[in-house]
Amino acid sequence: MEYSKIRTRFAPSPTGYMHVGNLRTALYAYLISKHEDGDFILRIEDTDQERYVEGAVDIINNTLKATGLIHDEGPDLGGDYGPYVQSERKGIYLQYAKELVDKGEAYYCFCDKDRLENLRKDLESKNETFRYDKHCLHLSKEEIQENIEKGIPYVIRQNNPVEGTTSFEDVIYGHISVDNSELEDMILIKSDGLPTYNFANVVDDHLMKITHVVRGSEYLSSSPKYNRLYDAFGWEVPVYVHCPPIMKDAHNKLSKRNGDASFQDLVAKGYLKEAVLNYIALLGWNPGGNEEIFSLEDLVKIFDYKNINKSPAIFDSQKLKWMNGEYIKRLPLDTFHDLALPYYEGILPKEMDSKKVSELMQTRVEVLSEIPEKIGFFAELPEYSIEIFLHKKMKTTIENSLENLTKILPALEALEPWNSDTISGLISEFVSKEGIKNGQIMWPIRSALSGLQSSPGGYLELADILGKDESISRIKIAINNLQSHL
Ligand code: GLU
Repeated sequence: MEYSKIRTRFAPSPTGYMHVGNLRTALYAYLISKHEDGDFILRIEDTDQERYVEGAVDIINNTLKATGLIHDEGPDLGGDYGPYVQSERKGIYLQYAKELVDKGEAYYCFCDKDRLENLRKDLESKNETFRYDKHCLHLSKEEIQENIEKGIPYVIRQNNPVEGTTSFEDVIYGHISVDNSELEDMILIKSDGLPTYNFANVVDDHLMKITHVVRGSEYLSSSPKYNRLYDAFGWEVPVYVHCPPIMKDAHNKLSKRNGDASFQDLVAKGYLKEAVLNYIALLGWNPGGNEEIFSLEDLVKIFDYKNINKSPAIFDSQKLKWMNGEYIKRLPLDTFHDLALPYYEGILPKEMDSKKVSELMQTRVEVLSEIPEKIGFFAELPEYSIEIFLHKKMKTTIENSLENLTKILPALEALEPWNSDTISGLISEFVSKEGIKNGQIMWPIRSALSGLQSSPGGYLELADILGKDESISRIKIAINNLQSHL
């Protein structure tokens, strides 16, 4: 089918945090439209008032803004097909439901809770799944009128056939056919007058001229019912793009409890928004080839929704970490420094040149939250085991470490000014004068300054960052420690 313009929508319910699955849906919907220069619409689906969470709309807006998934129409921007918040569209749905009633495709249902509960129990006792029994389907026009006038609460249900099959095409899942006997007479209008998602999504997608419906695969099984609605109205069915579930492993869905499921949690943990977006683009979609790092602009160019995979996508935290590390490495130093600063707070001594620490850290962390544990030794020399001085390749021993540190100490104490050039000059001189290997002085200094088996940066960077007084004091401590192990 040819469309004059592709229009997709992201239609979240404001129920709390932004699950990465939702963000992926938003991303795919965005990419599908933008790849063809189409429109991307934001619609807030808040008809389920019980699930409404205060502040959730802000989270949705902030997340879309932060990730660059900018919509063309939506609650804040308006557009030709508004309003874009379902509760503000309340007046629209009833007339459409009534149109279906007139066509015999829907009916009023006045069954109360007790009757439905008894029906449920009855079916359960026969090991059958609950299905409304069309009890109210045969009410006469007069009975319906009377009930409404009496103020008896009602819902409007879809009238699905019990025989035959309904089929439809999904771009990802292919041809899907279900027995009509499986189609529940789902509620279209609730007793509070608001539509269910099941009804509102069809009416709104039609009225908003949505050409491609992108959503999670949990809606796949309801889609035959939506199709029957489109057909009943005589409306064109949109292209369905149902996205595979995102799993933690082969058996478990990715849930909030994993701590990885929400965009905000990931950002709070020190993941970069761009990296998260890049990573989730690959959850169920394969660009082909080996390249995996894509900016949003790259994705817009290359995204082809026909390559979305229907098998569940596994959320691989290790891979996300790796990707985040790649993004961190590619940042301009100043940008990384700004992002890292909050993680230095309360750890790095005020007088320390934190920009130099950033230079070291940028290539050594995959997630920003790893920074504090990596820089603790700058603030305080850790207690260490003497093994950190021993390095096979560098040919260091306790004896020669002690000897070399003791010998170089006076020269270091006399060194002015204290900077990378003067320190490395002094070390070179020392190496040639003593006829030792570079490593035999560099490694002991590195060990003395860091107190770590492996440190971010070598002796020179550490000495430069720690400054003269602290470096000398740590070398003296090392000399004492080494002596006591002789
Ligand atoms: N409001 C639905 C949800 O948040 C959206 C489903 C759809 O995209 O149609 O799950």
